[in-house]
Amino acid sequence: MSDETHPERPAIALPEEFRRVGAPLVSEEPVPQCPVCEGGSHHPYAEGYDYELMTCANRWRFVQCDACRHVWLHPRPAIAELSTIYPPHYYAYNYAAKISPIAVKAKQWLDRGKMRGIVGALGRPPRSYLDIGCGDGRFLKSMEALGVPKESNYGLELDERVVAPLREQGFQAFCERVEDCQRIPEGSLDLITMFHVIEHVDDPASVVRQAARWLAPGGIFAVETPNIDSLDARLFHETYWGGYHIPRHWNLFAADTLARLFSDQGLQPVATRYQTGHSFWMYSFHHSLRYGATPRPRMAKWFDPVGGFLPFLAGFTGFDKVRAALGAKTSAILMLARKPE
Ligand SMILES: [Zn+2]
Repeated sequence: MSDETHPERPAIALPEEFRRVGAPLVSEEPVPQCPVCEGGSHHPYAEGYDYELMTCANRWRFVQCDACRHVWLHPRPAIAELSTIYPPHYYAYNYAAKISPIAVKAKQWLDRGKMRGIVGALGRPPRSYLDIGCGDGRFLKSMEALGVPKESNYGLELDERVVAPLREQGFQAFCERVEDCQRIPEGSLDLITMFHVIEHVDDPASVVRQAARWLAPGGIFAVETPNIDSLDARLFHETYWGGYHIPRHWNLFAADTLARLFSDQGLQPVATRYQTGHSFWMYSFHHSLRYGATPRPRMAKWFDPVGGFLPFLAGFTGFDKVRAALGAKTSAILMLARKPE
């Protein structure tokens, strides 16, 4: 076990900007065991700071399991610090796609294609659905359009302000953690989706276990998450990769570690699809320009996915679309797993 930073690799220094804004140090909690295989031996993988929101000045470190190659944040922020690392504007920020109607249209088009592919893999019309991390409920609404009745159309989200209006519309939307939710009958769901959530949770295996319990025989669990086995992750490996989302991403997957997480809970991986990740590309460039050896904050702004230069956004999306079509492993993995009949 190597718990110290590599002696030959100098620690990445705190960018000056963090000192200027007075970013605090938050308390940490060690995670010595691999969250996928429970192995106790790991090596340093990457380190960095909260380049996106500057909520804290801690230097965070990802480690990689010597046995299964899974990557996780160790130590990670203590649970008591969640309100610091997820500031009140964090959720609002996710909905900032509203900045450009063209970006919204493009996103809807990508989402429709993604959902068609998932529903197609089910092989029967879905009668029940759950979206873990349902946000404003756009996938609940698209599944309603595909015939899922509201009484079996569930959404979980950790912000009461977004679930309350969905409940008023008749959806089964609740502000609860997956692990604590008792409202969904076991063996009842045809389809569960979880887009860009699993990397945020403390115990991904328990989330998959719960999803496996909720699925009906033959049901599909679709999980989308950043892919550490991608070109952008390799180029910006050392510290600036946008997919790190330090310190809010606690587990980082590649196709093999995600497949193992599913099969350990009795689900069979049936398809792996690579998705576009314009925001990872843009944040990677943004962070390296803003915090690099010669900071270029004005140029960095062009690469901010929120309010940056729209043609870059379109360009990175197109670039990943083409590469995914050619069989490359792009910034995000979408894996579908089936509960055996
Ligand atoms: Zn492991």
